[in-house]
Amino acid sequence: MILLDGKKISAEIKNEIKKDVDSYIKKGYRQPHLVAILVGNDPASTFYVKSKMKSCAQVGFKSTNLNFESNISEERLLEEIKKLNNDEKVDGFIVQLPLPEHINVNKVLAAIDPEKDIDGFHPFNLGRLILGMDTFVPATPLGILEMMKRYNIDTKGKDVVILGRSNIVGKPLAISLVQKQYPGNATVTIVHSKTENLNVKLRNADILVAAIGMPGFVKENMVKEDAVVIDVGINRVEDKTKKSGYRIVGDVDFENVASKCSFISPVPGGVGLMTVVSLLLNTLKAYKNRYGI
Ligand code: NDP
Repeated sequence: MILLDGKKISAEIKNEIKKDVDSYIKKGYRQPHLVAILVGNDPASTFYVKSKMKSCAQVGFKSTNLNFESNISEERLLEEIKKLNNDEKVDGFIVQLPLPEHINVNKVLAAIDPEKDIDGFHPFNLGRLILGMDTFVPATPLGILEMMKRYNIDTKGKDVVILGRSNIVGKPLAISLVQKQYPGNATVTIVHSKTENLNVKLRNADILVAAIGMPGFVKENMVKEDAVVIDVGINRVEDKTKKSGYRIVGDVDFENVASKCSFISPVPGGVGLMTVVSLLLNTLKAYKNRYGI
């Protein structure tokens, strides 16, 4: 079994980004600039935004966090987005999800300039993804693709089963993996809560990606011998031995599944770190596009 070490490869990628940024700064360009909009004070969202800001600093990006009260109106939020769209000094920005219920998330995402849409959630960019055109691939699928590349995981002709059909993970990953490219050329099945004979389908997977948000859901008997298992889940479970009172686990029962796999990604230390680094890659891409460099 080989561990898909998100900690190691995300550090490598950050070094590569930093070198790139340093070379642009030397040539007289300004720093790449990422802005994160955070609405409200949900602890998980606040944590994610903080870790994105911290990663920006590590690679030499400027970052700005715009924090708004949870009762901000949709109209006002759309105005803020318009400002960022028009700000020459902003290369890319994200609106941290989820948003409060009174705000129409699709309307907000569609208001982002596709050139600055570093989360890749704009319908224009998702359309380009389907067509196999150059685009901003959403950060989590991009992180998984990068992880596959760095470990030379063979995807051609393989049966990939993706557990979870969300717009941010399952669907865009499935689209990427069926394209005529590497990683890709796979036979992809998406399974979800309405899927019949789920275990049979999971057991057929050469590559199994779990993204459902249920701690330890994927058990040993659901995984084929020598499968590649990629765990996207980030779940808090109570743990009295920890100061915080909880620990983070994935959607895979890692302890019992790992020995059966050819490759497996751990949680923490896997896809989560790759997601953050992919957001940096998308920001760098937006910056380079802006200057044609
Ligand atoms: P969503 O809640 O949007 O989607 C969950 C999906 O799982 C749905 O398609 C749902 O099916 C399916 N599902 C739920 N229960 C079952 C079940 N018992 N059997 C089969 N399918 C089921 O989740 P996200 O995609 O946003 O996130 C999934 C997990 O990944 C979470 O733990 C989240 O925290 C984590 N995550 C991690 C990231 C990272 O960087 N590592 C980034 C984003 C998310 P249905 O559609 O039928 O309801």
